[in-house]
Amino acid sequence: MVDWSIPDESGVKSNEASFSGICVYAEHADGALVPSVPEVIGAARQLAEGTGLPVSAVLLGSEIGHLTGELLELGVDEVWLVDSPNLQPYAEDAEARCMSELLAELKPAIVLGSGTRRGRSIFPRVAARLDTGLCADCISLSLDKETGHLVVTRPAYGGSIVAKIVIPHQRPQMATIKEHVFRSAAKVSTPSGIVRDMSSQIRVSKTVLEILEIVRGRADPANLLQADTIVAVGRGIKKAENLPLIYEFADAIGASVGATRAAVDLGWIHPSHQIGQTGSIVKPRVYFACGISGALQHTVGMDEAETIIAVNSDPNAPIFDLATYGIVGDLLEVIPAFIETLKVE
Ligand code: FAD
Repeated sequence: MVDWSIPDESGVKSNEASFSGICVYAEHADGALVPSVPEVIGAARQLAEGTGLPVSAVLLGSEIGHLTGELLELGVDEVWLVDSPNLQPYAEDAEARCMSELLAELKPAIVLGSGTRRGRSIFPRVAARLDTGLCADCISLSLDKETGHLVVTRPAYGGSIVAKIVIPHQRPQMATIKEHVFRSAAKVSTPSGIVRDMSSQIRVSKTVLEILEIVRGRADPANLLQADTIVAVGRGIKKAENLPLIYEFADAIGASVGATRAAVDLGWIHPSHQIGQTGSIVKPRVYFACGISGALQHTVGMDEAETIIAVNSDPNAPIFDLATYGIVGDLLEVIPAFIETLKVE
């Protein structure tokens, strides 16, 4: 069995280190866990496999007790619950303070979250409060079998390299994972975990922000991560003025609109629509690639789509190697023909 305790500067392991286990941040909104939580628990369970390390989930909020059952079903050993009216409405300063106090008290060795907007905002704050580091947007996680150190990989330098980072001494070791990269935890048939209610032991202070109004906008302009069907557009659309055609088609089939980096860099479409190595990783049922060449940096973000339909005027475009169905033609003619057909039907 590996000794998971922390080596000091000279490399000598100190058993007084009381940090242990892997903990995940159970993000929730509107009374439900967000879709990335099963992925983070999946990543944690995979990491813990064969080590005997327990996996716990941090659940913070007000009147959120009903979410504990779902977390236990996802196979966590303990849910660390802090239920306080001071955490309502959600404010990142209060949440980060509360989470830091809880982690300082319960001392997990590794803390994982998702690279959602909230994860990106909370994790750096908590890491700073705990005087530790943070690896963001990781695409793989492992434990060094010899030393027990957390080893992660993540894109670096704008996605030109995939960096392997070993985190040797810090505790806790904190990382966020890129959405849609890790497999979701399977539900366990007979959950055996427990809920540890820490509400009375953790001081929960109110936010120092004055929240005047909560305005609900479209949370994600592209809404790609949960999309069942995506119509993605590339440089082949020629100019921004042709984009309404893509939106019309997407609306007609209930799809979200994605884009290549080329279309984003040209300023034709908002960066939140970008799919690929430096954009979102998507796994829809159907993916329309319209005027997209099929560069590797794009296809790594969509090659797990169940059905890929490519429209490209170049019969030798690499996207056809990946496509389930290929249409060689001008998308400015093919897409209107699709729309017309849908109208007839
Ligand atoms: P192009 O490669 O120019 O392809 C346009 C296609 O449209 C061509 O195949 C052409 O035949 C076709 N076409 C032209 N006219 C028509 C028409 N009328 N009808 C039909 N088809 C037509 N890219 C991403 O997408 N996502 C990323 O996350 C990403 N990250 C990157 C990270 C790094 C570090 C680097 C270096 C690059 C990255 N890229 C990324 C860029 C990537 O390498 C490609 O340049 C980009 O994906 C190409 O976009 P495109 O297919 O729209 O354009």
